[in-house]
This record gives sequence, structure tokens and C-alpha cells, in this order.
Amino acid sequence: MAGLLAARALAEHFSRVTVVERDPPPAAPGHRKGVPQDQHIHVLLSSGALTLERFFPGLTAELVAAGAETFDCGSDARWFHHGVWKVRQHAGVPLLAQSRPFLEWHVRRRLAALPNVVFVAGDATELLTDADRRRVQGVRVRRRDGSAAEDDLVADLVVETAGRGSHVPKWLDELGYPKPSEETVVIDLGYATRVYRRPPQSGRDWRMLLVYAKAPHGTRTGIVSPIEGDSWIVTLSGCHKDYPPDDDAGFLEFARSLERPDLYDAIKDAAPTSPITTIRFPAQRRRHYEDMRQFPDGLAVMGDAMCSFNPLYGQGMSVAALEAAALTDCLRERGDLTGFPRRFFRRAARIIDGPWLLATGADFLYPGTVGRRPAGTGVLGWYNVNVLELSGHDARVQTTFLEVMHLTRSPFALFSPGVLLPVLKRALGSRVRRV
Ligand SMILES: Cc1cc2nc3c(=O)[nH]c(=O)nc-3n(C[C@H](O)[C@H](O)[C@H](O)COP(=O)(O)OP(=O)(O)OC[C@H]3O[C@@H](n4cnc5c(N)ncnc54)[C@H](O)[C@@H]3O)c2cc1C
Repeated sequence: MAGLLAARALAEHFSRVTVVERDPPPAAPGHRKGVPQDQHIHVLLSSGALTLERFFPGLTAELVAAGAETFDCGSDARWFHHGVWKVRQHAGVPLLAQSRPFLEWHVRRRLAALPNVVFVAGDATELLTDADRRRVQGVRVRRRDGSAAEDDLVADLVVETAGRGSHVPKWLDELGYPKPSEETVVIDLGYATRVYRRPPQSGRDWRMLLVYAKAPHGTRTGIVSPIEGDSWIVTLSGCHKDYPPDDDAGFLEFARSLERPDLYDAIKDAAPTSPITTIRFPAQRRRHYEDMRQFPDGLAVMGDAMCSFNPLYGQGMSVAALEAAALTDCLRERGDLTGFPRRFFRRAARIIDGPWLLATGADFLYPGTVGRRPAGTGVLGWYNVNVLELSGHDARVQTTFLEVMHLTRSPFALFSPGVLLPVLKRALGSRVRRV
């Protein structure tokens, strides 16, 4: 997804953009080997949907016409989070719901329609550089036609978006550069997902249902989301090695064990249309390319290759979209590619900071989470818990929380008077009650 969006951004600035992808191009929406996570729920946040629409005008309408669902996150999603049901009210935060393969297929189709974008099926194996290795000049690609032949693709700019398995740290090492510093936050998360035929809406007052764990004792989460084909995608997850099972009875039992019975009640009589698939996500990982003092010109990195977030907060694709927009902005501001990587990485780091803080902050509510806890983590955690609990009855707090979560507002909005004052009032109230 990051690669498709990077290509869309670059197509505005370069006469030819080549997308190198190791999987053969799918003829129809469907699972791809190179993206094992695509069988699991993929929430597209509002910020991501808005950026996609800006890149591909009319895409939202196309997705909806083809079966995606759109609804308001505040009024149409029923969400139990940190021990409270969130206030139900129109929040003006729209959600576009579909499966990941469906979204990706539509984005790829729109990208392929651009006259200066071409696709090459192959494995990127190596960077090509000038003699003193200060500028990347292209990439070597091994063909996937069984011949193992290699082609050299010459380029003014290479954007690496190979996901969590990114080769850039290794390539940099081979070229004699240091590797980027890396932060990991270990949460040992497991997902199990199944698709169901969506039962008729009558009698149900929600379109999406989320039952999230209450940290630090609860570890289990479940989400039901509509997707194309009048279906539901149901994802169960457990952190700190509380992995959901992949057998029929175990899956239902795990659903029944969530903190509220609503999800189990919704799916227990629904008809499954897929097997149960599982995936493990050991850790969030951020690579700080913005801190590198030496970095070759002509190379950028984006998407999960730069930062891979705990998927429970649905940030990855939307952050990739915002990074692609930053790529365009950087190129628009200055066409000259000298020093481009540094300019882009600094801007991308500012995009990542907020979602990284939100995702790691939530994970650090668990004492068992392994990673560097920045100063103030304890206070932020306390504040976060107050915000979550207030979002059960304070409509303004809930709307602000949703806007921040959907990356349409900065996390600083959570410290605006409309949120800060209720948090302080609550904290003082509980102190007075204790006295
Ligand atoms: C279980 C799970 C659930 C998730 N849920 C959500 C969610 O709800 N919402 C959300 O926004 N995000 C979610 N994410 C994150 C999301 O999948 C990624 O952030 C998003 O796909 C962007 O990743 P990417 O494009 O950088 O990498 P990927 O999607 O991993 O794509 C990498 C691509 O590079 C190709 N590739 C790799 N190596 C090479 C090579 N050498 N040569 C050529 N091609 C290569 C692969 O085939 C693949 O197509 C989830 C992730 C996981 C693991």
C-alpha cells in the first residue's frame, strides 16, 4: 500500500515511475503472499481515506459503488473500550470499511491508469550507486519468470516500501553506511480472523462493533466490521501471548470471553464463509532514518519499512498515505534531489510521532510490554486512562479522542481545555471522594 501511494505521489513529479513488486499483479481483489496481514481486518482511518481521495478523486464513490460501507464512527460504531461503552453520537468522523485486498486492488487499478506508471514483477535485490556510493542510482531486480535473470533499473529516486522485511538497513550496511537506530516495543500480539455472511441489519443498532481490552489485566479484543460482499470480517486478538485459536469452537469461545458478550452474541449464529486465519505481530518497530547523519542521496524509505505500528489502532495504511502526501510536498517545495532524503525523513518523522505516541502509550499500560519507556510515560498513561473513561459519557472528549485517533487532529488536541478540564475535574473529584 505504501508503494502504491508513493508511486502516485512520484507520478506528479517524474516522467516515469516504476513499481517493483515481487507478487504477480492480481487480476481481482484477493489475498497476496507478500502481504500475509491482508486477510485480517484493515481499518482505514479518516485521515487515510481523505488522503486517498485527494490522490485519486472519486475513489471513495467507486469503493462504495463496489460494495464498501461508509458510516460515522461516532454514531454507527458501538465501542466498548477500557471498561466503558463510548458515547454514541454523530462525530463527523466518517469511516470507509472494506477488506484490505479490495482496497488495494482499487488503488492499484487507479494507479495503473496513470500514463507514466509502469509495474515490474520482480524482487528488488540490491541498490545501484555511483562510484563513491554517495548517490543511489537505481535498483537491481531479479525477474520472477523462473529465469532468475536480473535487470538494472536506473532511477533518479528509489523509494523503498518493502514493509517490515525492508532490506534498507542491510543494503546501507553493505554500502558502508551505519544502520538507522531502531526502537521496538514488544507486545506479542496474535490475530485470528474469519469472514461471515452479514446478517440482516434489522434489530441491530450498530454497523461496526468493537470490544477492546481494559489494560493492564484484559488482553483480549474483538472487532466486527462490515466489508464488501455483504460480509462481516471478524478479528479477535490477544496481546502478551494470549493468542486466539484457529479452530471453530476455540474461536467462538475466545469471542465469548471478551469483556462484553455483544460480539459473541452477534456472531454465534452467523454463517462463516472463510476459514479462520491467524497471524502473529511480535512488536512495534520504528527506524529513525531522520537521525542518520550519513545517508545516500536518491533513496527514501516509507510505510512499514520505516515504522510498523500495533495494528489494533489501524494506523499503518493511513500513515503511509500521509507520508506519500509528504513526499509530494517535499518534491513540490524543491525539485532539486540533493539532500532530499533528509528533508523527507524529517517530515515523515513528524507524521509518525503522534501515532507512535498513541500506539506505544496504549501498549505501555501493560507492565509486561518490553521497550524503552520515554520520560513521562506513567503520567501520560494516567491521562490516557482518564480520557478513555471520560469518553464513556462526555461527548466532547469522545469526539476529540476519535479525531486524534483518526489522525485528523494532533494528539495535542487531547490537552485542549475541552478535554484537559474534564480530566482534571474528574481527578480532583476522585481525590475529594477519597478524602
Ligand atoms: C495483522 C495486521 C493487521 C493490520 N491492520 C491494519 C489496519 O487495521 N489498518 C491499517 O491501516 N493498517 C493495518 N496494518 C498495517 C498495514 O498492513 C501496513 O501498515 C500497510 O500495509 C503499509 O505497509 P507497507 O505497504 O509499507 O508494507 P506491506 O503492506 O507489507 O507491503 C510490502 C510489499 O512489498 C513487497 N516486497 C517485499 N520485498 C520485496 C522485494 N524485495 N522486491 C519487491 N517487492 C517486495 C511485498 O510483496 C508487499 O507487496 C495491519 C498489519 C498487520 C500485521
